[in-house]
Amino acid sequence: MPDFLHTIGDVYRRMSHAAMRGGREPDAAHLVAVSKTVPVEVVREAVDCGLRVFGESRVREAAAKAAAFAGLGLSWHMVGHLQRNKARAAVEVFDLIHSVDNMDLLGLIEKHAAAIGKRQAVLIQVKLSGEQRKSGCDEAALRAMVDAATGMEHVEVRGLMTVPPFFDDPEAARPYFRRLFEINEAYGFPELSMGMTGDFEAAIEEGATLVRVGTALFGERDYA
Ligand SMILES: *Cc1c(COP(=O)(O)O)cnc(C)c1O
Repeated sequence: MPDFLHTIGDVYRRMSHAAMRGGREPDAAHLVAVSKTVPVEVVREAVDCGLRVFGESRVREAAAKAAAFAGLGLSWHMVGHLQRNKARAAVEVFDLIHSVDNMDLLGLIEKHAAAIGKRQAVLIQVKLSGEQRKSGCDEAALRAMVDAATGMEHVEVRGLMTVPPFFDDPEAARPYFRRLFEINEAYGFPELSMGMTGDFEAAIEEGATLVRVGTALFGERDYA
């Protein structure tokens, strides 16, 4: 436990230094602790150390963890690719879905959120690199997605998210972070989700408000 506290403190310290290097307030970026594949007992230690916001990439796993910690005021974020047939369950579990990247999904979220009287906060995942098979909507499709969401009563677009192609090399990723910041500013959205273990400092320097950090907190895992 003291080790874990130290690890978390180290991540926060690196986050605040990066924010200051970027000319921002030291607490300008918030930590989403990516706990996918991490067992409940380890998440419990993280909660005991003060972490409150957790990122997951599988809806069922997130639902089980959310149930295990019900009533503690934790917040669960979907950071991975969301399949259509999981949209209903996702709306029930997550406070923020980072990974909305197509119109169909947007429509399903609207429908399922309406059914339970919720306004679902989402980010639109943008693919800036033109890679074929990666998740994320193309920059050219973003305007139409934002316009569609604006007409939806039960969806609120809070900002943009990206996973750049070179996420292990912060300097290679930096131009993507800078570009997404500019796009996000043009829309005037409050949140910007970018940066993982390998590059969260560069992302914060470039304006991230949410960083999704797994490995730096919980160690190496087999994500496959
Ligand atoms: C797994 C994952 C993360 C966390 O990655 P680390 O490199 O372990 O910090 C962040 N974002 C997304 C979308 C992920 O799938």
